[in-house]
Amino acid sequence: MLVSRLSEKRITMGFFSWDCKECDHPLLSPYSTNSINGWMNSAVVIESNGSILKGSYDGYGRVGMEEISWEDSEPCCYHEACWEKAGKPTEYRPSTPSSDQGFFFDEGAHNMEAPL
Ligand SMILES: [Zn+2]
Repeated sequence: MLVSRLSEKRITMGFFSWDCKECDHPLLSPYSTNSINGWMNSAVVIESNGSILKGSYDGYGRVGMEEISWEDSEPCCYHEACWEKAGKPTEYRPSTPSSDQGFFFDEGAHNMEAPL
């Protein structure tokens, strides 16, 4: 069955992500971006302890070379462009884990132009 094969693939592939607090689209892994939404790979993450991480999201919980701490509390995630547009907020507000894991979505689902 197609559905069970897909869920098996999700577990094996292990991709996960969070939705941006500003635009509600997920941080996208570099393997799932296209020429329109490549900017959704650049992330700014505020952890519950106030640390701010910036860089490319790898699809597996790392921004730049840094591991996001998320076991105890969901991180506060923005696309870098959305974060700048929002006035570079530093307040911690937990993000929602992305239902499509930032990877398993229909072609075009996140085709939004950068806000800046
Ligand atoms: Zn965003």
